[in-house]
Amino acid sequence: MTMLGTDRSREAAVLAAVPTQLLIGGAWRDSSSGATIAVDDPATGRTLAHVADATAADGDAALAAAAAAQGRWARTAPRDRGEILRRAYETLVARVDDLALLMTLEMGKSVAESRTEVLYAAEFFRWFSEEAVRISGRYSTSPDGRTRLLTTKRPVGPCLFITPWNFPMAMGTRKIGPAVAAGCTMVVKPANQTPLSMLALAQILIEAGLPDGVLNVVTTSATGEVMEPLIRDPRLRKLSFTGSTQVGQRLIEQSAQQLLRTSMELGGNAPFLVFDDADLDVAVDAAMAAKMRNVGQACTAANRFHVQDGVAEEFTRRLTERMAAMTVGRGTEDGVDVGPLVDEAGRRKVDELVRDAVAQGATVTTGGHRLDGPGYFYAPTVLDEVPWTARILREEVFGPVAPITRFASEQDGVAMANATEFGLAAYVFTRDVGRAFRVCEALEAGMVGLNQGVVSNPAAPFGGIKASGFGREGGAEGIEEYLETQYVGIAP
Ligand code: NAP
Repeated sequence: MTMLGTDRSREAAVLAAVPTQLLIGGAWRDSSSGATIAVDDPATGRTLAHVADATAADGDAALAAAAAAQGRWARTAPRDRGEILRRAYETLVARVDDLALLMTLEMGKSVAESRTEVLYAAEFFRWFSEEAVRISGRYSTSPDGRTRLLTTKRPVGPCLFITPWNFPMAMGTRKIGPAVAAGCTMVVKPANQTPLSMLALAQILIEAGLPDGVLNVVTTSATGEVMEPLIRDPRLRKLSFTGSTQVGQRLIEQSAQQLLRTSMELGGNAPFLVFDDADLDVAVDAAMAAKMRNVGQACTAANRFHVQDGVAEEFTRRLTERMAAMTVGRGTEDGVDVGPLVDEAGRRKVDELVRDAVAQGATVTTGGHRLDGPGYFYAPTVLDEVPWTARILREEVFGPVAPITRFASEQDGVAMANATEFGLAAYVFTRDVGRAFRVCEALEAGMVGLNQGVVSNPAAPFGGIKASGFGREGGAEGIEEYLETQYVGIAP
């Protein structure tokens, strides 16, 4: 593990440029209590900044601002809304280096990975700048010929977005982009651990010309107390949440009272299936991407590797070599592949799952232990022949650990892949076209990577089934989450 020095003056300049107050009605302001939340660097434990700690009254003010801005914003020309997104996209791309450093400081992953996320996040603004002008309806004749049917789309209204720490910017732009394009106003609550990327993003949207009140940002340590009244408030018309299944379930209960429209992007437990006929070069490269992106802290991360008997040994050997060769260290350093986990709780869970698997008979082929800090580092780990009873095959590991199991027949592989309550992503590696279609169809997952280890794409509908939630972000489907349908029956 390398732990090198770093350019503290550049870090200080990047941090100093980020707003740390609440954004309400176009104005940056302190929390009504004056309280703040410390934002720490997971690689060092050092406090980077303090952001405003909103009260329930501040949350209410943010929703009031969104509700007040809704009418006028809905009447804005679609082209104008699209141009705001386009300008914000261009600014994100122009400032990618500073934004990537900021993200790494608060979240830990390498700067190279943060750059990838900033550019990915920006692409949602570019995509939805193009979708803003393609919202359409239809005109038709009823089957009996007596009525004309005019079907139109309108913005759903004020939205609440709650986002997680693992992709602090992209999880925001996937919601903000289509909401802006559709003509919705919003309140955004980023995760406590990583609010700075969202605050920087909000500043960019203001610079791009987003009118006051369209986007409001609330950071708070009293998350439930500040969010629940908003979810129960009749001014709110839509909730989009990305995070754990457990919190998502609670929010759906809260939203039921006023039949709020909801989108839920929840946890995953992605299987990675490698068949005997797979191209192993492709499969191992993809395994590294699907496992190690974001230090394994991705909802789409390959959580379990199911490998057919004929290639299992070779696949395990090659994956072990690649994992063992990774450089772990502070994400701001050149040449670092793997940053720290976000916090000690996350690292403890990873370690617990590894110990449980080993106690049940799994073999550690590399890693399998924490690394000394400061910071929450964990060695890239491969576990072979993990028994089916191990917790790591059922729970999201959210860390740099690849558990491998073996299977004999195609049917067994598919059955293993589907043996989970989650249904977000799955990965399949085969060169047999017939098998590829059969297996993709049989997989219970919202997204499948066929011979590739990345499924995220702004032009594709991202989302899950089963306990991974519902709703889609990105693609032509993404904007539908923010539109209501109205039809007018017209007597001819
Ligand atoms: P989490 O604990 O559910 O937190 C996510 C967000 O919900 C944070 O902003 C958190 O705020 C907020 N929150 C927590 N309790 C809340 C409550 N009672 N009421 C309202 N909001 C509440 O999830 P996490 O551990 O941070 O994130 C990792 C999870 O997200 C994983 O399960 C991962 O698979 C999932 N994820 C899913 C997707 C997807 O698209 N499907 C993408 C990325 C991540 P604070 O933390 O600030 O309190």
